[in-house]
Amino acid sequence: MIYDVAIVGAGIVGAAVAYRLRQAWPEVRLAVLEKEPQPATHQTGRNSGVIHSGIYYKPGSLKAILCAKGREQLYAFANAEGIPHERCGKLIVAVNESELPRLEALYERGLQNQIPGIQKLKAADIPLYEPECRGEGAIYVPVTGIIDYRATTERLLSLSRADTFYDSCVKSLEFKEGRYLIYTPREKVEAAYLIGCAGLQADRLARLDHLRPPLRIVPFRGDYYELSPASRWKVRNLIYPLPHPTYPVLGVHLTRMIDGSVEAGPNAVFAWAREIYHRAGFSLQDTWDALTFRGTWRFFYKHWREGLAEYQRAFSKHLFWESVRRLVPSIRKEELHPARVGIRALALTPDGSFWDDFYFVSTERSLHVLNAPSPAATAALALAEEILKKAFATWRFSSPVPITGL
Ligand SMILES: Cc1cc2nc3c(=O)[nH]c(=O)nc-3n(C[C@H](O)[C@H](O)[C@H](O)COP(=O)(O)OP(=O)(O)OC[C@H]3O[C@@H](n4cnc5c(N)ncnc54)[C@H](O)[C@@H]3O)c2cc1C
Repeated sequence: MIYDVAIVGAGIVGAAVAYRLRQAWPEVRLAVLEKEPQPATHQTGRNSGVIHSGIYYKPGSLKAILCAKGREQLYAFANAEGIPHERCGKLIVAVNESELPRLEALYERGLQNQIPGIQKLKAADIPLYEPECRGEGAIYVPVTGIIDYRATTERLLSLSRADTFYDSCVKSLEFKEGRYLIYTPREKVEAAYLIGCAGLQADRLARLDHLRPPLRIVPFRGDYYELSPASRWKVRNLIYPLPHPTYPVLGVHLTRMIDGSVEAGPNAVFAWAREIYHRAGFSLQDTWDALTFRGTWRFFYKHWREGLAEYQRAFSKHLFWESVRRLVPSIRKEELHPARVGIRALALTPDGSFWDDFYFVSTERSLHVLNAPSPAATAALALAEEILKKAFATWRFSSPVPITGL
Protein backbone atom coordinates (compact mmCIF):
# COMPACT_ATOMS: atom_id res chain seq x y z
CA MET A 1 0.00 0.00 0.00
CA ILE A 2 1.15 3.54 -0.64
CA TYR A 3 0.33 5.82 2.26
CA ASP A 4 -0.76 9.40 1.69
CA VAL A 5 1.31 10.64 4.61
CA ALA A 6 4.01 9.05 6.76
CA ILE A 7 4.93 10.63 10.08
CA VAL A 8 8.30 9.80 11.58
CA GLY A 9 8.35 9.92 15.40
CA ALA A 10 5.73 8.91 17.96
CA GLY A 11 6.38 11.55 20.58
CA ILE A 12 3.55 13.91 21.42
CA VAL A 13 4.20 16.10 18.38
CA GLY A 14 4.03 13.23 15.87
CA ALA A 15 0.97 11.81 17.66
CA ALA A 16 -0.83 15.17 17.65
CA VAL A 17 -0.06 15.67 13.95
CA ALA A 18 -1.50 12.20 13.21
CA TYR A 19 -4.63 12.99 15.23
CA ARG A 20 -5.20 16.41 13.63
CA LEU A 21 -4.53 15.00 10.17
CA ARG A 22 -7.19 12.32 10.68
CA GLN A 23 -9.66 15.03 11.76
CA ALA A 24 -8.88 17.20 8.73
CA TRP A 25 -8.68 14.39 6.18
CA PRO A 26 -10.81 11.47 7.39
CA GLU A 27 -9.86 9.15 4.53
CA VAL A 28 -6.12 9.71 4.77
CA ARG A 29 -3.94 6.60 4.55
CA LEU A 30 -1.61 7.32 7.40
CA ALA A 31 1.53 5.65 8.74
CA VAL A 32 3.54 6.48 11.87
CA LEU A 33 7.07 5.11 12.14
CA GLU A 34 8.79 4.99 15.51
CA LYS A 35 12.18 3.50 16.28
CA GLU A 36 11.30 2.49 19.85
CA PRO A 37 8.94 -0.34 20.86
CA GLN A 38 6.35 2.16 22.20
CA PRO A 39 5.42 5.84 21.89
CA ALA A 40 6.67 8.73 24.10
CA THR A 41 9.98 7.07 24.95
CA HIS A 42 12.14 10.18 24.77
CA GLN A 43 11.39 13.85 25.58
CA THR A 44 7.62 13.37 25.84
CA GLY A 45 7.78 10.54 28.36
CA ARG A 46 10.58 12.12 30.41
CA ASN A 47 9.41 15.68 30.86
CA SER A 48 8.08 17.52 33.91
CA GLY A 49 4.45 16.76 33.09
CA VAL A 50 3.43 20.42 33.30
CA ILE A 51 0.76 22.13 31.21
CA HIS A 52 2.39 25.53 30.81
CA SER A 53 0.42 28.76 30.84
CA GLY A 54 2.52 30.60 28.22
CA ILE A 55 3.63 33.40 30.56
CA TYR A 56 7.35 33.21 29.70
CA TYR A 57 7.42 33.56 25.94
CA LYS A 58 8.04 36.57 23.77
CA PRO A 59 4.64 38.10 22.96
CA GLY A 60 3.65 37.32 19.38
CA SER A 61 6.08 34.39 19.07
CA LEU A 62 4.80 31.02 17.90
CA LYS A 63 5.60 29.64 21.35
CA ALA A 64 3.42 32.27 23.04
CA ILE A 65 0.52 31.88 20.63
CA LEU A 66 0.53 28.10 20.34
CA CYS A 67 1.12 27.50 24.06
CA ALA A 68 -1.95 29.53 25.03
CA LYS A 69 -4.10 27.92 22.33
CA GLY A 70 -2.72 24.42 22.82
CA ARG A 71 -3.09 24.60 26.61
CA GLU A 72 -6.85 25.01 26.39
CA GLN A 73 -7.11 22.43 23.59
CA LEU A 74 -5.15 20.00 25.76
CA TYR A 75 -7.42 20.55 28.78
CA ALA A 76 -10.47 19.98 26.58
CA PHE A 77 -8.94 16.84 25.05
CA ALA A 78 -7.94 15.45 28.46
CA ASN A 79 -11.44 16.13 29.83
CA ALA A 80 -13.12 14.48 26.87
CA GLU A 81 -10.82 11.45 26.86
CA GLY A 82 -10.51 10.92 30.62
CA ILE A 83 -6.75 11.49 30.70
CA PRO A 84 -5.39 12.13 34.20
CA HIS A 85 -4.76 15.87 34.59
CA GLU A 86 -5.39 18.76 36.93
CA ARG A 87 -5.51 22.54 36.52
CA CYS A 88 -3.70 23.13 39.81
CA GLY A 89 -1.95 26.50 39.34
CA LYS A 90 1.65 27.42 40.06
CA LEU A 91 3.78 29.97 41.87
CA ILE A 92 6.78 31.72 40.34
CA VAL A 93 8.82 33.04 43.22
CA ALA A 94 11.33 35.88 43.68
CA VAL A 95 13.46 34.59 46.53
CA ASN A 96 15.15 37.89 47.35
CA GLU A 97 14.61 41.60 46.81
CA SER A 98 17.08 41.82 43.94
CA GLU A 99 14.80 39.49 41.92
CA LEU A 100 11.70 41.67 42.34
CA PRO A 101 12.27 43.78 39.18
CA ARG A 102 12.52 40.56 37.11
CA LEU A 103 9.34 39.28 38.74
CA GLU A 104 7.61 42.53 37.82
CA ALA A 105 8.86 42.25 34.21
CA LEU A 106 7.57 38.68 34.02
CA TYR A 107 4.19 39.77 35.35
CA GLU A 108 4.02 42.46 32.65
CA ARG A 109 4.87 39.85 30.05
CA GLY A 110 2.10 37.65 31.43
CA LEU A 111 -0.35 40.53 30.95
CA GLN A 112 0.89 41.07 27.38
CA ASN A 113 0.43 37.37 26.71
CA GLN A 114 -3.08 37.60 28.21
CA ILE A 115 -2.55 34.78 30.67
CA PRO A 116 -5.88 34.48 32.47
CA GLY A 117 -6.08 35.26 36.18
CA ILE A 118 -2.43 35.91 37.02
CA GLN A 119 -1.93 37.64 40.36
CA LYS A 120 1.03 39.32 42.03
CA LEU A 121 1.58 38.12 45.59
CA LYS A 122 3.38 39.83 48.44
CA ALA A 123 5.76 37.85 50.64
CA ALA A 124 3.08 37.41 53.31
CA ASP A 125 0.60 35.92 50.79
CA ILE A 126 2.89 33.17 49.50
CA PRO A 127 2.13 30.70 52.35
CA LEU A 128 -1.60 31.00 51.57
CA TYR A 129 -0.84 29.12 48.34
CA GLU A 130 2.25 27.13 49.36
CA PRO A 131 2.60 26.99 53.15
CA GLU A 132 6.28 25.93 53.13
CA CYS A 133 7.46 28.25 50.38
CA ARG A 134 9.28 31.49 51.18
CA GLY A 135 10.08 34.49 48.98
CA GLU A 136 9.92 38.25 48.67
CA GLY A 137 7.13 38.11 46.11
CA ALA A 138 5.51 35.75 43.63
CA ILE A 139 3.20 35.43 40.67
CA TYR A 140 0.31 33.03 40.99
CA VAL A 141 -0.63 31.47 37.64
CA PRO A 142 -3.95 29.65 37.99
CA VAL A 143 -4.14 28.12 34.49
CA THR A 144 -0.98 26.01 34.83
CA GLY A 145 -1.63 22.31 35.30
CA ILE A 146 -0.22 18.79 35.36
CA ILE A 147 -0.95 15.84 33.08
CA ASP A 148 0.17 12.39 32.03
CA TYR A 149 1.82 13.12 28.66
CA ARG A 150 2.51 9.48 27.93
CA ALA A 151 -1.19 8.60 28.23
CA THR A 152 -2.05 11.67 26.11
CA THR A 153 0.31 10.54 23.35
CA GLU A 154 -1.06 6.99 23.37
CA ARG A 155 -4.64 8.27 23.10
CA LEU A 156 -3.83 10.68 20.27
CA LEU A 157 -2.21 7.87 18.34
CA SER A 158 -5.04 5.46 18.84
CA LEU A 159 -7.61 8.08 17.76
CA SER A 160 -5.54 8.81 14.65
CA ARG A 161 -6.13 5.23 13.43
CA ALA A 162 -2.71 5.34 11.80
CA ASP A 163 -0.83 2.17 10.93
CA THR A 164 1.95 2.32 13.51
CA PHE A 165 5.32 0.73 12.87
CA TYR A 166 7.29 0.30 16.11
CA ASP A 167 10.94 -0.79 16.35
CA SER A 168 11.24 0.90 12.96
CA CYS A 169 14.12 3.31 12.85
CA VAL A 170 14.13 5.29 9.62
CA LYS A 171 17.63 4.79 8.22
CA SER A 172 17.27 6.24 4.75
CA LEU A 173 14.83 8.10 2.55
CA GLU A 174 14.55 8.05 -1.19
CA PHE A 175 12.18 10.09 -3.32
CA LYS A 176 11.31 8.24 -6.50
CA GLU A 177 8.45 8.34 -9.00
CA GLY A 178 6.41 10.77 -6.95
CA ARG A 179 6.70 9.05 -3.59
CA TYR A 180 8.94 8.51 -0.61
CA LEU A 181 10.56 5.16 -0.04
CA ILE A 182 11.21 5.02 3.69
CA TYR A 183 13.69 2.35 4.72
CA THR A 184 13.92 0.87 8.20
CA PRO A 185 15.80 -2.33 9.14
CA ARG A 186 12.43 -4.14 9.18
CA GLU A 187 10.47 -2.77 6.25
CA LYS A 188 10.14 -0.37 3.35
CA VAL A 189 7.19 2.01 3.69
CA GLU A 190 5.96 4.07 0.75
CA ALA A 191 4.19 7.40 1.16
CA ALA A 192 3.36 10.43 -0.96
CA TYR A 193 4.25 12.93 1.77
CA LEU A 194 6.40 12.86 4.87
CA ILE A 195 6.33 14.74 8.17
CA GLY A 196 9.37 14.48 10.45
CA CYS A 197 8.70 14.83 14.18
CA ALA A 198 11.92 13.21 15.36
CA GLY A 199 12.72 15.30 18.44
CA LEU A 200 16.34 14.71 19.45
CA GLN A 201 17.07 13.26 16.00
CA ALA A 202 15.25 15.95 13.99
CA ASP A 203 18.37 17.38 12.29
CA ARG A 204 19.56 13.89 11.28
CA LEU A 205 16.20 12.95 9.79
CA ALA A 206 16.17 16.21 7.80
CA ARG A 207 19.64 15.34 6.47
CA LEU A 208 18.38 11.92 5.39
CA ASP A 209 15.80 13.94 3.40
CA HIS A 210 18.73 15.72 1.65
CA LEU A 211 18.12 18.97 3.50
CA ARG A 212 20.83 21.04 5.10
CA PRO A 213 19.20 22.22 8.29
CA PRO A 214 20.68 25.44 9.64
CA LEU A 215 20.31 24.21 13.23
CA ARG A 216 22.15 21.44 15.05
CA ILE A 217 20.50 19.50 17.86
CA VAL A 218 22.72 19.45 20.94
CA PRO A 219 21.50 17.36 23.88
CA PHE A 220 21.19 18.83 27.38
CA ARG A 221 20.54 16.46 30.25
CA GLY A 222 18.15 17.27 33.08
CA ASP A 223 18.41 15.32 36.35
CA TYR A 224 15.49 15.04 38.74
CA TYR A 225 15.34 14.26 42.44
CA GLU A 226 12.23 12.91 44.13
CA LEU A 227 10.94 14.03 47.51
CA SER A 228 10.42 11.26 50.12
CA PRO A 229 6.75 10.25 50.27
CA ALA A 230 6.52 11.44 53.89
CA SER A 231 7.64 14.96 52.85
CA ARG A 232 5.37 15.44 49.84
CA TRP A 233 3.04 17.65 51.89
CA LYS A 234 5.70 20.38 51.74
CA VAL A 235 4.76 21.06 48.10
CA ARG A 236 1.09 21.49 47.30
CA ASN A 237 1.38 22.10 43.55
CA LEU A 238 4.10 23.70 41.44
CA ILE A 239 6.80 26.06 42.71
CA TYR A 240 9.18 27.67 40.20
CA PRO A 241 12.05 30.11 40.56
CA LEU A 242 12.38 32.99 38.12
CA PRO A 243 13.75 31.71 34.81
CA HIS A 244 17.41 32.37 34.11
CA PRO A 245 17.71 35.65 32.18
CA THR A 246 19.97 34.29 29.42
CA TYR A 247 20.39 30.51 29.80
CA PRO A 248 17.57 28.59 28.07
CA VAL A 249 16.06 26.91 31.16
CA LEU A 250 13.27 27.57 33.63
CA GLY A 251 15.42 26.64 36.65
CA VAL A 252 15.12 23.77 39.14
CA HIS A 253 11.48 23.70 40.20
CA LEU A 254 9.27 21.60 42.44
CA THR A 255 6.50 19.75 40.67
CA ARG A 256 3.70 17.64 41.99
CA MET A 257 3.30 14.96 39.33
CA ILE A 258 -0.07 13.57 38.32
CA ASP A 259 0.70 10.29 40.19
CA GLY A 260 1.11 12.26 43.45
CA SER A 261 4.90 12.11 43.67
CA VAL A 262 6.86 15.36 44.00
CA GLU A 263 9.94 15.99 41.89
CA ALA A 264 12.66 18.60 41.96
CA GLY A 265 14.53 19.45 38.79
CA PRO A 266 15.61 19.47 36.08
CA ASN A 267 19.05 21.03 35.86
CA ALA A 268 20.60 21.48 32.40
CA VAL A 269 24.04 20.13 31.53
CA PHE A 270 25.61 19.33 28.18
CA ALA A 271 25.00 15.61 27.55
CA TRP A 272 27.45 13.24 25.88
CA ALA A 273 24.60 11.31 24.26
CA ARG A 274 21.21 12.23 22.83
CA GLU A 275 19.26 9.29 24.18
CA ILE A 276 21.18 7.57 27.00
CA TYR A 277 19.53 8.23 30.33
CA HIS A 278 22.17 7.98 32.99
CA ARG A 279 24.68 10.49 34.19
CA ALA A 280 27.66 8.75 32.58
CA GLY A 281 25.88 8.08 29.25
CA PHE A 282 28.24 8.49 26.28
CA SER A 283 27.80 8.14 22.53
CA LEU A 284 30.76 8.73 20.24
CA GLN A 285 28.57 9.78 17.32
CA ASP A 286 26.48 12.22 19.38
CA THR A 287 29.53 13.73 21.03
CA TRP A 288 31.32 14.02 17.68
CA ASP A 289 28.29 15.72 16.09
CA ALA A 290 28.01 18.19 18.96
CA LEU A 291 31.70 19.03 19.33
CA THR A 292 32.48 19.35 15.62
CA PHE A 293 29.76 22.00 15.31
CA ARG A 294 31.14 25.47 15.88
CA GLY A 295 27.82 26.66 17.35
CA THR A 296 28.35 24.34 20.33
CA TRP A 297 31.72 25.94 21.18
CA ARG A 298 30.30 29.41 20.73
CA PHE A 299 27.40 28.48 23.02
CA PHE A 300 29.92 27.22 25.62
CA TYR A 301 31.93 30.43 25.28
CA LYS A 302 28.84 32.61 25.77
CA HIS A 303 27.46 30.60 28.69
CA TRP A 304 30.55 29.15 30.36
CA ARG A 305 29.61 30.54 33.79
CA GLU A 306 26.10 29.07 33.78
CA GLY A 307 27.39 25.83 32.22
CA LEU A 308 30.04 25.42 34.90
CA ALA A 309 27.54 26.11 37.70
CA GLU A 310 25.14 23.55 36.19
CA TYR A 311 27.93 20.96 35.99
CA GLN A 312 28.94 21.50 39.60
CA ARG A 313 25.31 21.09 40.69
CA ALA A 314 24.98 17.94 38.57
CA PHE A 315 27.71 16.31 40.64
CA SER A 316 26.75 17.73 44.01
CA LYS A 317 23.56 16.81 45.80
CA HIS A 318 24.35 19.57 48.26
CA LEU A 319 24.25 22.25 45.54
CA PHE A 320 21.05 20.77 44.10
CA TRP A 321 19.48 20.84 47.55
CA GLU A 322 20.50 24.49 47.95
CA SER A 323 18.54 25.37 44.79
CA VAL A 324 15.52 23.56 46.20
CA ARG A 325 15.92 25.11 49.64
CA ARG A 326 15.83 28.62 48.18
CA LEU A 327 12.19 27.94 47.35
CA VAL A 328 11.17 25.67 50.24
CA PRO A 329 13.60 26.08 53.16
CA SER A 330 12.10 23.25 55.22
CA ILE A 331 13.10 20.54 52.71
CA ARG A 332 16.02 18.59 54.18
CA LYS A 333 18.81 17.14 52.08
CA GLU A 334 18.01 13.56 53.10
CA GLU A 335 14.44 14.03 51.84
CA LEU A 336 15.73 14.26 48.25
CA HIS A 337 16.48 11.06 46.32
CA PRO A 338 18.03 10.81 42.84
CA ALA A 339 15.28 10.03 40.34
CA ARG A 340 14.89 9.94 36.58
CA VAL A 341 16.76 11.78 33.84
CA GLY A 342 15.42 13.64 30.80
CA ILE A 343 17.29 15.00 27.78
CA ARG A 344 16.27 18.16 25.95
CA ALA A 345 16.96 18.83 22.29
CA LEU A 346 18.57 22.25 22.20
CA ALA A 347 18.68 23.64 18.65
CA LEU A 348 21.81 25.73 18.19
CA THR A 349 22.71 28.05 15.33
CA PRO A 350 26.29 28.21 13.99
CA ASP A 351 26.84 31.47 15.93
CA GLY A 352 26.12 29.69 19.22
CA SER A 353 22.63 31.05 19.88
CA PHE A 354 19.80 28.71 20.76
CA TRP A 355 16.78 28.93 18.51
CA ASP A 356 14.09 30.13 20.88
CA ASP A 357 10.96 29.22 18.92
CA PHE A 358 9.42 26.35 17.00
CA TYR A 359 11.15 25.87 13.67
CA PHE A 360 10.24 23.94 10.52
CA VAL A 361 11.86 23.21 7.19
CA SER A 362 9.93 21.91 4.23
CA THR A 363 10.21 20.70 0.67
CA GLU A 364 7.51 20.15 -1.93
CA ARG A 365 6.78 16.77 -0.36
CA SER A 366 7.93 16.91 3.24
CA LEU A 367 8.01 19.00 6.36
CA HIS A 368 10.43 18.56 9.28
CA VAL A 369 9.85 19.91 12.76
CA LEU A 370 13.43 20.88 13.55
CA ASN A 371 12.83 22.52 16.87
CA ALA A 372 9.99 21.66 19.24
CA PRO A 373 11.29 22.58 22.70
CA SER A 374 9.20 23.21 25.80
CA PRO A 375 6.28 24.06 25.77
CA ALA A 376 5.78 21.77 22.75
CA ALA A 377 4.04 19.12 24.86
CA THR A 378 1.54 21.68 26.17
CA ALA A 379 1.14 23.21 22.71
CA ALA A 380 1.06 19.93 20.77
CA LEU A 381 -2.51 20.11 19.47
CA ALA A 382 -2.17 23.72 18.30
CA LEU A 383 1.36 23.06 17.03
CA ALA A 384 0.01 20.16 14.97
CA GLU A 385 -2.54 22.48 13.32
CA GLU A 386 0.25 24.92 12.50
CA ILE A 387 2.42 22.13 11.06
CA LEU A 388 -0.38 20.91 8.81
CA LYS A 389 -1.27 24.41 7.64
CA LYS A 390 2.37 24.98 6.71
CA ALA A 391 2.63 21.62 5.02
CA PHE A 392 -0.51 22.04 2.96
CA ALA A 393 0.55 25.56 1.97
CA THR A 394 3.96 24.32 0.75
CA TRP A 395 3.31 20.89 -0.66
CA ARG A 396 2.38 20.39 -4.24
CA PHE A 397 -0.55 18.03 -4.21
CA SER A 398 -0.81 15.92 -7.33
CA SER A 399 -4.58 15.69 -6.88
CA PRO A 400 -7.04 17.83 -4.92
CA VAL A 401 -7.22 16.61 -1.34
CA PRO A 402 -10.28 17.17 0.84
CA ILE A 403 -8.60 18.97 3.70
CA THR A 404 -11.08 20.69 5.99
CA GLY A 405 -11.20 22.19 9.45
CA LEU A 406 -7.71 23.63 9.78
C1 LIG B 1 13.48 17.32 30.98
C2 LIG B 1 12.37 17.92 30.16
C3 LIG B 1 11.28 18.56 30.79
C4 LIG B 1 10.26 19.12 30.02
N1 LIG B 1 9.13 19.61 30.64
C5 LIG B 1 8.07 20.00 29.88
C6 LIG B 1 6.84 20.33 30.49
O1 LIG B 1 6.66 20.19 31.69
N2 LIG B 1 5.82 20.77 29.70
C7 LIG B 1 5.97 20.91 28.34
O2 LIG B 1 5.03 21.35 27.67
N3 LIG B 1 7.12 20.55 27.73
C8 LIG B 1 8.16 20.07 28.47
N4 LIG B 1 9.30 19.66 27.87
C9 LIG B 1 9.38 19.70 26.40
C10 LIG B 1 8.58 18.60 25.75
O3 LIG B 1 8.68 17.40 26.46
C11 LIG B 1 9.07 18.42 24.32
O4 LIG B 1 9.08 19.68 23.70
C12 LIG B 1 8.16 17.47 23.53
O5 LIG B 1 8.02 16.26 24.23
C13 LIG B 1 8.74 17.23 22.15
O6 LIG B 1 7.99 16.19 21.56
P1 LIG B 1 8.47 15.51 20.22
O7 LIG B 1 7.41 14.59 19.79
O8 LIG B 1 8.93 16.58 19.29
O9 LIG B 1 9.83 14.74 20.63
P2 LIG B 1 10.05 13.32 21.32
O10 LIG B 1 9.13 13.10 22.46
O11 LIG B 1 11.51 13.25 21.64
O12 LIG B 1 9.68 12.27 20.21
C14 LIG B 1 10.44 12.10 19.02
C15 LIG B 1 10.28 10.65 18.61
O13 LIG B 1 10.89 10.45 17.35
C16 LIG B 1 11.47 9.14 17.34
N5 LIG B 1 12.48 9.11 16.29
C17 LIG B 1 13.59 9.89 16.18
N6 LIG B 1 14.29 9.55 15.08
C18 LIG B 1 13.63 8.53 14.48
C19 LIG B 1 13.89 7.75 13.31
N7 LIG B 1 14.97 7.95 12.54
N8 LIG B 1 12.99 6.77 13.00
C20 LIG B 1 11.88 6.53 13.76
N9 LIG B 1 11.61 7.26 14.89
C21 LIG B 1 12.47 8.24 15.24
C22 LIG B 1 12.05 9.03 18.74
O14 LIG B 1 12.30 7.69 19.11
C23 LIG B 1 10.97 9.69 19.57
O15 LIG B 1 10.03 8.76 20.08
C24 LIG B 1 10.33 19.09 28.60
C25 LIG B 1 11.41 18.43 27.97
C26 LIG B 1 12.39 17.83 28.74
C27 LIG B 1 13.48 17.08 28.04
